[in-house]
Amino acid sequence: MIKNNYFTDNEDIQDYFQTLIDWDEIVCEVEHDFRDYKEYSQTKQEELEFAPSNTQEALEAYKAFLDSAGEICGCDISQKSSIMDKKGLSFKDGKVSFPQEMIELYQKLEDAGLHGFATARHFGGLTFPRTMISFFYELMGRADSSLCLAFGALGIIETVDCFSDEEQAAKWVPKIADGSYSAAMALTEPNYGSDLPNIQTKAEKDEKGQWRINGSKRFITGGCGFENRPALILTLARTGDPSSGAKGLSFFLVQSTDLEIAGIEKKMGISCSATCELVYNNSPAELIGKEGFGLIRYAMGMMNGARLAVSAQSTGIAQAAYSESCKYASEREQFGVPIRDIPAVKKLLDRMERETLVIRALTMEASRQVDLYSWRKFDHGNKNTDAEKNPKHDPQVRKWEKIASFFTPLAKYYGSELCNQIAFDAIQVHGGSGFTEEYDVARIYRDARITNLYEGTTQLQIVAAIGGISSGMSAKGYLRTYLEDEMASFAPSAELTEIYGLFCKICEAFKEILDAKTKNYVAFEAVESAARFIGGMLLEKTASKLSSEKRENRLRVAQAFHLDSKAKITANKIQIQGIAMKSERSSQNTVVAAS
Ligand SMILES: Cc1cc2nc3c(=O)[nH]c(=O)nc-3n(C[C@H](O)[C@H](O)[C@H](O)COP(=O)(O)OP(=O)(O)OC[C@H]3O[C@@H](n4cnc5c(N)ncnc54)[C@H](O)[C@@H]3O)c2cc1C
Repeated sequence: MIKNNYFTDNEDIQDYFQTLIDWDEIVCEVEHDFRDYKEYSQTKQEELEFAPSNTQEALEAYKAFLDSAGEICGCDISQKSSIMDKKGLSFKDGKVSFPQEMIELYQKLEDAGLHGFATARHFGGLTFPRTMISFFYELMGRADSSLCLAFGALGIIETVDCFSDEEQAAKWVPKIADGSYSAAMALTEPNYGSDLPNIQTKAEKDEKGQWRINGSKRFITGGCGFENRPALILTLARTGDPSSGAKGLSFFLVQSTDLEIAGIEKKMGISCSATCELVYNNSPAELIGKEGFGLIRYAMGMMNGARLAVSAQSTGIAQAAYSESCKYASEREQFGVPIRDIPAVKKLLDRMERETLVIRALTMEASRQVDLYSWRKFDHGNKNTDAEKNPKHDPQVRKWEKIASFFTPLAKYYGSELCNQIAFDAIQVHGGSGFTEEYDVARIYRDARITNLYEGTTQLQIVAAIGGISSGMSAKGYLRTYLEDEMASFAPSAELTEIYGLFCKICEAFKEILDAKTKNYVAFEAVESAARFIGGMLLEKTASKLSSEKRENRLRVAQAFHLDSKAKITANKIQIQGIAMKSERSSQNTVVAAS
């Protein structure tokens, strides 16, 4: 793997950090008029010592964190990724062993103070916006997917911060911030994966009023903890009767030391990520928040963060595949020239570049949207503020939560699918060498494959995003309003305007389909068209903020992306209309036959 600081060596990341992100807008949401700084001035509370007093100070702290993360990811983790992959994990007597390199690298991240990324200052953390966390996940995703999962899982504690009471949050969240625990999320069961509303793991109170959980969970990342750190496992379990559906599910905190690790999966990729089978046998548990809110309120409330974690990881994987391919294509010569100068190879590299830029653009925009509502809605680390009491009435929360609920599945679906495509192309650029384990792209390709499966498969992301097309694109729909405001904020090219017109036609064609099954059948084409238009729009919008030379380069990339989009959206329109017509004809035939 390329050895470099992955934060400073990436021009696009630097452009986002320095120019493209409106940090004032985000820091204002996160810092609530810099109240931690003000509180520190009065109380001298140790945890708040480094709270910023203005945006510039916040940015200096963000930059220092990413500099350090970029250095460790690019110069340490990436250099051991292949060795860790070859060593893998072992499992014996209920205990998972990790490669020594992984243990040392995790420790290195902790020693640099990076484990506070997921928690609020009041609990010993760093109070970072989602946008910052996305940068961090991307840097780790580029270096090594398994370590990204192990360390990134600390972000799961956000649910406890947001939904538990003050006492419970004060008991558990600092244990993540001080590195004494790792974290895991246990939703999936052997018979219920996508179908979460029907899971059957049972939670009941014993005679002393202590909650106890019985049942088993499958595929739980990091359910065993990491090395000498046990895991706090956020567990979804049924408190209602077996047929109570989503409303009968509640969230609990269970310690990994209170259950049995029955085994780990042998997988095609992320070989150093422990994917555990957990058996709960009267395991003591603490209820988080209210009974019956586990799936419908809490898991759903956290879904946007979980989707963004994978789309940021996918951006990192795509960047790794692209960067490694560029390096190889400049070094490898065939027919007397570096293969990057051969048009067919250049074509692959150009597509990898523009798709990586689009994945990052979607991830960054969705992260911004989550930052614009979540700090008002949840007010992390501060439980008694007015904003938290009544967030639903805040128009900003309503607006951005709705838009983010379309954007985060869009970013997760598109990022994960495209990082697979980019990893596939990376092997092609490497030729036969790409198929061997001598180069990193084989591992990158295997690691990419999980991204469109976990945290909700692509098909489930499409289900989550399709509402944006059916209701959000109505005449005064929230998505149409957002898109038209965005388009009015810069001067869109004729090509982008034309693609918007094509996308609107797709939305109309989709709306005209009356049969629900046919709608589900063509939902992918509709959402893909949205991703193509929005990806192109974000490229142009961000180009408009860059200096002239960079702007020209980005617009060139955008034009090539638009060309692909025009072809894809036109084909999608033909598909949608063709399938709709076929379904209409067959329903007419059914009516004729019945009469
Ligand atoms: C390595 C790994 C790590 C994981 N980590 C975790 C973890 O930490 N915690 C956790 O709780 N889970 C975890 N999972 C589980 C993961 O989230 C599920 O595998 C995933 O949600 C899909 O569920 P499933 O495997 O049961 O597939 P199924 O739900 O059986 O799906 C099979 C196919 O049917 C499709 N499908 C199913 N329902 C629908 C529908 N309504 N509409 C359209 N298509 C549909 C799916 O898209 C898929 O193509 C992990 C899985 C893996 C492999």
